[in-house]
Amino acid sequence: MVDTLLTQDPYVKVALNVPLRATFDYKIPKALAYRHHIRPGMRVKVPFGKGDRHSIGLVIETSVSSDYPDTQIKPITALLDDSPIISQELFDLCAWAARYYHHPIGEVFFHALPTSLRKGETADFRTETWWFLTEQGKTTDIESLKNAKQQKAFLDALKQHAEHGLSPHLLTVFELTSAAAKGLEKKGLVRSEQRSFIKSVETHAHQKQVPPTLNPEQAAATHAILAMRNEFGVALLDGITGSGKTEVFLRAIEALLKDDKQILVMVPEIGLTPQTLRRFESRFNTDIVLMHSNMTDRERLDAWLMIEHGQANIIIGTRSSVFVPATRLGLIIIDEEHDASYKQHEGFRYHARDLAIKRAQGLHIPVLLASATPSYESMANALQKRYHWLKLRQRAGDAQLPQMERVDLRGQSLKQGFSEHTLERMRQTLERKEQVLVFLNRRGYAPTLMCHQCGWIAACDHCDVNLTVHKRANKLHCHHCDSHKALLHTCPECHSTELFTVGEGTEQIEGVLNQYFKHTPVLRIDRDSTQRKTALTQITQKIHEHDQAILVGTQMLAKGHHFPNVTLVVIMDADVGLFSSDFRGMERTAQLITQVAGRAGRSSKRGHVLLQTYHPDHSAIECLCVQGYEALAMSGLRERQQLALPPFYHQVVIRAESQQEQQAMSLLMQLRNQMSVHLSEEMQIVGPYAAIIVRKAGQHRALLSLKSPQRGNLHRIVALASQWLEQNTKNHKIRFAIDVDPLET
Ligand code: ADP
Ligand code: ZN
Ligand code: ZN
Repeated sequence: MVDTLLTQDPYVKVALNVPLRATFDYKIPKALAYRHHIRPGMRVKVPFGKGDRHSIGLVIETSVSSDYPDTQIKPITALLDDSPIISQELFDLCAWAARYYHHPIGEVFFHALPTSLRKGETADFRTETWWFLTEQGKTTDIESLKNAKQQKAFLDALKQHAEHGLSPHLLTVFELTSAAAKGLEKKGLVRSEQRSFIKSVETHAHQKQVPPTLNPEQAAATHAILAMRNEFGVALLDGITGSGKTEVFLRAIEALLKDDKQILVMVPEIGLTPQTLRRFESRFNTDIVLMHSNMTDRERLDAWLMIEHGQANIIIGTRSSVFVPATRLGLIIIDEEHDASYKQHEGFRYHARDLAIKRAQGLHIPVLLASATPSYESMANALQKRYHWLKLRQRAGDAQLPQMERVDLRGQSLKQGFSEHTLERMRQTLERKEQVLVFLNRRGYAPTLMCHQCGWIAACDHCDVNLTVHKRANKLHCHHCDSHKALLHTCPECHSTELFTVGEGTEQIEGVLNQYFKHTPVLRIDRDSTQRKTALTQITQKIHEHDQAILVGTQMLAKGHHFPNVTLVVIMDADVGLFSSDFRGMERTAQLITQVAGRAGRSSKRGHVLLQTYHPDHSAIECLCVQGYEALAMSGLRERQQLALPPFYHQVVIRAESQQEQQAMSLLMQLRNQMSVHLSEEMQIVGPYAAIIVRKAGQHRALLSLKSPQRGNLHRIVALASQWLEQNTKNHKIRFAIDVDPLET
């Protein structure tokens, strides 16, 4: 005991869940130091803020001294853990992420923890009450309880389960009450015991599937991945849609499970997890846990603990699962690695793919990035041989890649967005009892509501955007700040009742198709039609039940679904990305089109894709249709290199927002002036400039962009900038954010 006191440093630096780029000093009270050895990674309760308020913090380091006089340093109120709640490895990852992303260290660490642990709950499995017979209970005749029916039933059931006792689950099964149990406890006949609850993983009743024989490309890819185990390396599994990428990683997982390793599989969407889970369960006889934001706090904590205790070998999760406390990780797989949802777009703006790679590096394990449309960043890394480039260019089984055809819209009379040719092809497909998928990346009924008399347009009160018309919900909805109001029928400017909608959204297209194809079910898949948890499953079930059907949807359709009877895909508007002000516009559009197109012809029937466009000869559209995604990416990368854009230049964007119009902009202007003396020659600074949508949710937004081919220089400047910003936004109503490797500019 005395030893502890002698070796224990007197101070701790604590990270708190606050947006400040600092740790906070506290002293360790002697009474605590006698009994515990306080180390980094343990949680403490500390006084913070006004009055007697407290916060939960995480010890970052212990220290022999402090920059503050001892009298000003407050003592820790309580120590919450006996040992660190995160491993050294995770601790280092978080500390690195805080530095790399220039984000407040407390917010980074707290982001990595499940909510219940952030709030200070104990890092233990929940306990539940089990009931057992006492010696007296064993010899008591149940008939003596004649007058207490429930107690009699309870004792009867317990006598039959004397060996293992009664769990809460059995209490429910036998309709027993805990009141009866407590009554019996008073009589000394039964006793209770608290047992830790370990989520019993459902016995996987699934018939285990026999895996298919790998084709030569799949076999080579699997072999290459397995050759990388036990060392750090990144493999880019670049396989066209339906080429059997998932099959490749199932094989890799199988091999690693035999080595007693844990495997983290990251997926972009919560919606995808049940599907992926089923596929995994039908293959492996091991415990699989899910990690995503749609779970309750308790479920997340249980999953977290199961992973930490090594009870789960396969973890399937979304973005934040990059922080799972696995201790035997052998492989990290990132499915659909190009997906933008891996980047957090607010608060701690990390990219889960990049952090996963950093994590794997520290652990000396491989990472597998899988996609049919790899991000240009990953393509560049593969080209520069930093990643192993594993290509699958054949569709698995006997499926063929769909044929891409352009439909020239110039001079055509369109019927609510469809050309006559498109409609005819849809008709033919349906007649063959096959399915059609119509893709339009705009939900709602129409993107604009306008007045015929005065030209008034319904705009959001809080953002610089038009409101989307949602007819069925009878609402005008802002897709940027989520505010909405009732659908208007008279013009607020001139009181005319001649309001009309401009453009089409999926809700309108669904109606149009219902009229054209009266006897064919039309199913819509977008965020509105799938709000209820089970809705997507129900819709996909319907799709599988019918021969003929038309699916209409947004980018939700692009994600991983397998509709074997879809043979025609219609891209209503292939031109959206062509003239985007964002340099990633074309990359995104090409990914979306390729992914959606990939839904066609996934079984034995050949698929066709119709791209409706006003620019059939545009080089990008032509390249995509004739040569495919890889060729387009290569030319896109050449362009980025010429223009000094990412991934050839590293970028950091500093965002500021203020309620008052000019404040954000002038803050960034001052910052730019401050920084200009520190800029090295190769560095580029652009801005400040207004965000594409200047006002969002009532905030005026401005950006300052910094680029450099050298990360080191860029980070030094950004560190200075963040210090300056923190000091200069204290008294103002300006918020700022530092976005390292931004996806939105
Ligand atoms: P991806 O992940 O590339 O889209 P999947 O792994 O989902 O592709 O495979 C597409 C379909 O082909 C699935 O139905 C899968 O079961 C099947 N498949 C995969 N590999 C093979 C193979 N070697 N032989 C036969 N069928 C296969
Ligand atoms: Zn009007
Ligand atoms: Zn808005």
